[in-house]
Amino acid sequence: MEFNQQQSQHPKSAEERAAILANPGFGDYFTDHTAVIDWTAGENGVGGQWHDARIEPYGPIALDPAASVLHYGQEIFEGLKAYRHADGSVWTFRPYANAARLNKSAARLALPQLDQDAFVESLRRIVAIDQQWVPTGDGEALYLRPFMIATEAFLGVRAARKVSYRVIASPAGNYFGGELKPVGIWVTHAYARAGRGGTGAAKCGGNYAASLIAQLEAEENGCKQVLFLDPFNNEAVEELGGMNVFFVTSAGKLMTPALTGTILEGVTRSSIIQLAKDRGMEVEERTITLDEWRQGIASGDIAEVFACGTAAVITPIGLLKNGEETIGDPDAVAGEVTMALRAELLGIQTGTVEDRHGWLERL
Ligand code: PMP
Repeated sequence: MEFNQQQSQHPKSAEERAAILANPGFGDYFTDHTAVIDWTAGENGVGGQWHDARIEPYGPIALDPAASVLHYGQEIFEGLKAYRHADGSVWTFRPYANAARLNKSAARLALPQLDQDAFVESLRRIVAIDQQWVPTGDGEALYLRPFMIATEAFLGVRAARKVSYRVIASPAGNYFGGELKPVGIWVTHAYARAGRGGTGAAKCGGNYAASLIAQLEAEENGCKQVLFLDPFNNEAVEELGGMNVFFVTSAGKLMTPALTGTILEGVTRSSIIQLAKDRGMEVEERTITLDEWRQGIASGDIAEVFACGTAAVITPIGLLKNGEETIGDPDAVAGEVTMALRAELLGIQTGTVEDRHGWLERL
């Protein structure tokens, strides 16, 4: 796909950019450009075409107030990172997995399919024009946020006939800030993020909107993230608001909740499963209950618990709280397997460990 390119007339100055890159945080600052591709449905909403692929200066979007994304939330997104290697080259991790997941989400939200090569090309274009924004610091990367929104101005409830795909980019440091310490997780029994036949397996804005009230509850209770349970089996662990969850047994087995259709299939999750198998570890994808977690910690059968996702990579979980009980140890230290998998995954992403599965894509 050909992209037209309109250079920003007002990019941030080298000084402003340096100040931001010195302390990028997470999701607070954006690069100078954005990639855009528009889609228009065919006659009577049948078929459709992507058109007007372009790179534009970063800035506010003009949207009709009746645009259906603003009313019915027809929106999906992705998240992946661009990593600067020691030789200065920039790489991303398994972008075709994100492209495939975007299309799965699109199918669920009645949005159009985007060619996977066009997806990867859009990342390549944004990184090419904004490459000075790719951080060089340890654990830092350029977070890429592709998203698709329904832009048609129409208040009837149906799939929009005008859609925009965009990519924005944001320099990123450590998601949880500061050094890597085990985080506390709040388990919510009151709120669910997904139901059978719902959108739990899609990466759509509505899922995150629905999770915010539980996230507030978590923060009020001194926790960083929320653990959601299966709404039909309130004892079964699903995932965190923005991460998948893993357990390491004292026998060295890895366990994670199975993909039941209500959990997002994390790219980090599937990479960890592969890396663990490569190490000869047994990996189980199955139902894991809160009771198994509680008893496993008490007996020592569960040695380590961690969360994983693009933003936070692998982050140890120290304890789980639900108001009535606390499972785990507030002074927990990161486990050995957790840290080894984290080092290997980060090493592959940043080019210091051999990429034996061909997961890296040069941008
Ligand atoms: N679950 C949810 C709900 C998420 O938002 C994310 C982040 N995309 C993940 C899991 C982890 O997915 P990934 O490893 O692809 O970042």
